[in-house]
Amino acid sequence: MNTTSSTTTTGPLQGVGVCPGRVVGPVRHMPPALAEPTAELRPLNDEEITVEVQRLKEAGATVAAALRARAESVSPEAAEVLAATALMATDSSLHKGARRLMRDGLSTERALWEAAAQVADTLTGLGGYMAERAADVLDVRSRILAQLRGVPAPGIPLAEGPFVLAAEDLAPADTAVLDPAHVLALITSQGGPQSHTAILARALGIPAVVAVPGLAGVLDGELVYVDGAAGVVTPDPPPELVGAAQAWQQKKGQLGVFDGAGVTADGHEVPLLANVGGAEDAVAAAAAGAQGVGLLRTEFCFLGHTTEPTVAEQTEKYRGVFAAFPGQKVVVRTLDAGADKPLPFLTDAAEPNPALGVRGLRTDRTSPGVLARQLEAIAAAAGAESAEVWVMAPMLSTPAEAQAFAALCAEHGLPTPGVMIEVPAAALTAPEILTEVAFASVGTNDLTQYVMAADRQLSALAEFNDPWQPALLRLVRTAADGAQATGKPLGVCGEAASDPALAVVLTGLGVTSLSMSPRSLAAVAAVLRTVTLDEAQQLARAALSASSAHTARQSVRDRLPELTRLGL
Ligand code: PEP
Ligand code: MG
Repeated sequence: MNTTSSTTTTGPLQGVGVCPGRVVGPVRHMPPALAEPTAELRPLNDEEITVEVQRLKEAGATVAAALRARAESVSPEAAEVLAATALMATDSSLHKGARRLMRDGLSTERALWEAAAQVADTLTGLGGYMAERAADVLDVRSRILAQLRGVPAPGIPLAEGPFVLAAEDLAPADTAVLDPAHVLALITSQGGPQSHTAILARALGIPAVVAVPGLAGVLDGELVYVDGAAGVVTPDPPPELVGAAQAWQQKKGQLGVFDGAGVTADGHEVPLLANVGGAEDAVAAAAAGAQGVGLLRTEFCFLGHTTEPTVAEQTEKYRGVFAAFPGQKVVVRTLDAGADKPLPFLTDAAEPNPALGVRGLRTDRTSPGVLARQLEAIAAAAGAESAEVWVMAPMLSTPAEAQAFAALCAEHGLPTPGVMIEVPAAALTAPEILTEVAFASVGTNDLTQYVMAADRQLSALAEFNDPWQPALLRLVRTAADGAQATGKPLGVCGEAASDPALAVVLTGLGVTSLSMSPRSLAAVAAVLRTVTLDEAQQLARAALSASSAHTARQSVRDRLPELTRLGL
């Protein structure tokens, strides 16, 4: 189904804002999906089938070549998505499946259709990260089908001027090639805060709102106002909203540059660090002025690997990150495999409840040795570079686990062991845990999903998965109080740290550093600089005592005029 419709919509549409920014522009809906090939039987002999499979392979190769060509002119992050999608276009399991179905009498197009659906079903069955790849397979299927039919490939519509792109949800290959010069904003009827659309919109800095109801009622070409912070899409905007968008255009330039110091108005320092997934990210983060790396998601270096990477392979990857931050802090998180990030060599795809299963540090119980070898690689990389390397374990629940992890780090000559606080039990026992290790960092993404008992991947539960939930803030305060009692640092490296208003609240709660997507550094720094530590503490108290996430957010935002001034 596409979002185009002949009915018109009035009044603001409330969705979930995933990337701030205010723009006004005409809507362009994604083109309608290609018609599904009919299922009627068209028996072919073996020779004809071979010719048809060859035609499929050639169409797939053309699609792959086109995707690779586009990969050359996009960001490294986007190029990686396109390269993965291109691989699927030439995947032999697709051709084998199609050949089998043609032998059953299906037409070439229908055989392709069903073979791709089977591959997508298999990926969905694997769950987590692999399940998200199912959308890539279906995207590739449409592209090959368009190639077979000789019609333009589905994807971002071409338009004369800049536009607001509306879609149900965007395929990774689409989002990967979005040109911010043409696409003013993204609005989707599906998706959640963790969807591809959301993640890539943030990486590209394109204002975006997901899970917008009633989007199908907005006409193609109709003017809309999009507020990516408030999550609002307003068709036929009144002059004051057009003015708000113009004001944002003028102000956003001020948010482009981070001068490299996180500090409150009265000089209380809160280092602003970057979340990275590998060397390329780290180089970009250093260029953006990050004061170090607060979270290296090492599992991102090895997603899709079916076997454990060697110590040498790991050492090289980690050195690439350390080299970008000579003399500065880099917090390396050990492999956080499981749930939405399965690694076939560590996690069991058949687990019934993977978010509560053997993930993160827990994989050391089922695959002993992998953690020790990773620490060996981190130590080797740390020895070869000058970065100040800290090591952190994910998904930890008890002080005993912290003690064992610290002992293992010591065995490998890694002097600064720490833990993620992303399980409520860890927040509640922070003093005991911090007695065992040198530091902790709150993972608000998981801590929110666990305290609210709401899967962070589900758009239907986005309301619960909100780091402004007072329950989450109270857990952060408990952890921060515990950290203060032991005199150990407590950072935050979940998405919450990227929200400038929440960054102020976290500072007021006693958090000592904030780690975020590099694009958020300048905005967080700008807002933090407008409050004293005492004011941040007052705002934290206001948020803690709010009755809901909505009132917590609103009461803090209302008292931070800089947000409005900067259009955040
Ligand atoms: C978190 O849970 O907040 C976190 C930073 O870890 P991840 O998002 O990688 O699970
Ligand atoms: Mg986490």
